[in-house]
Amino acid sequence: MGLDDDAREYHRQDPPGKIEISTTKPTNTQRDLSLAYSPGVAAPCSDIDEDPDLAYEYTSKGNLVGVISNGSAVLGLGNIGAQASKPVMEGKGVLFKRFADIDVFDIELDFDDPEDIIRSTRAMEPTFGGINLEDIKAPDCFEIEERLREEMSIPVFHDDQHGTAIIIGAGLVNAADIVDKELESLDVAISGAGASAIATAEFLVSLGVPRENVTMCDSSGIITTERAEAGEVNDYKARFASDRPAGDLADAMEGADVFVGLSVAGIVSPEMVQSMAADPVIFAMANPEPEIGYHEAKEARDDTVIVGTGRSDFPNQVNNVLGFPFIFRGALDVRAREINEEMKIAAARALADLARKDVPDSVLKAYGDQPLQFGPEYILPKPVDPRVMFEVAPAVAQAAIESGAARKSIDLSTYREELEA
Ligand code: NAP
Ligand code: MG
Repeated sequence: MGLDDDAREYHRQDPPGKIEISTTKPTNTQRDLSLAYSPGVAAPCSDIDEDPDLAYEYTSKGNLVGVISNGSAVLGLGNIGAQASKPVMEGKGVLFKRFADIDVFDIELDFDDPEDIIRSTRAMEPTFGGINLEDIKAPDCFEIEERLREEMSIPVFHDDQHGTAIIIGAGLVNAADIVDKELESLDVAISGAGASAIATAEFLVSLGVPRENVTMCDSSGIITTERAEAGEVNDYKARFASDRPAGDLADAMEGADVFVGLSVAGIVSPEMVQSMAADPVIFAMANPEPEIGYHEAKEARDDTVIVGTGRSDFPNQVNNVLGFPFIFRGALDVRAREINEEMKIAAARALADLARKDVPDSVLKAYGDQPLQFGPEYILPKPVDPRVMFEVAPAVAQAAIESGAARKSIDLSTYREELEA
């Protein structure tokens, strides 16, 4: 109750909400105002009319992200609608600003039909340097993002999908290395087949896990070829249909090297962990209560068990704030047309590499008693580690340049120095 009331008070404090607009140019004199607005403003307008890319030089477009939601899948609250989602979307804006100095307009759209969301978002391309879709329910979120990526030439990124996938991917690269297994040989059981689970499964395939090694379960059990052929599952789930016999999550986990839970609390037992292969890796990500508790999973067996959750009170927190601010920073700074697979992989690899480096004292202090040295209890950097920005943003920018997604080429070592300054 304490936290709820504190949160109400935090939001209510004058001025209400968490965001305001501030101006960035002098506005003191009549002359200033005639530069900011009519008649002076006509000159940059005409220039942009001739060369649309000048919008990046004359307006805030290049540092402005639209956080867009219809409130249909908000946190653990479900479909609470556009208006009630606004505190979350303002909050997302706070994180963009705090971690990467990116400005955000939060846009809550009172639409259910994906076509309406697609049409209205597409029409906002002139305003933004990038679009972060947020808390839109599956499977609508897949179609909306796919269409917008095709039809827009600024980055469109559904963070609940790809942010999660990238951080889990980074964690798995390191975890596999610690237990001396190759991604190419991992057997992966996934609980959940919604927004985050589908994207995570696809991303693990991008990182090298064979698609046929992924066994995915939804609320009716293993997604089998029979279920797919019977039309019982949507097209996104069907891409992971398995030739295995019908079964439940316990069957899927037997002998698996990796468990990824993006589903609901408490559905994994210690016995299910015991049935996994040697030195298993467990990402139990359901929030706020994971599929199996951190300690319960660790104590289920005597070999190395690497456990990650969504929680900040245990080691290996998979926190999306490790990703989206810096991925957008890198993408915006090269005026990227999209956030493609190469950029996502670069972000995951940069995070994985950073966890292998010594942690600065300032970060150690912030985390007091936790052992922050590369190993089973530390496979991912911490969100307050300032180096995350310096590593991830340049890696994403470089991948954008090399993959042809960048409108603008930059000198990467100068860029890095500017970020660190
Ligand atoms: P979602 O789109 O609603 O998907 C939930 C999935 O869970 C659905 O596919 C659903 O199956 C499945 N499910 C429900 N009960 C199940 C059961 N008993 N066994 C197996 N699967 C079951 O939700 P989401 O956005 O992907 O998020 C899923 C969970 O992951 C949430 O708890 C969320 O908070 C958490 N999450 C955490 C992080 C993080 O910590 N960084 C990031 C993203 C998500 P059907 O398809 O059959 O309905
Ligand atoms: Mg979200």
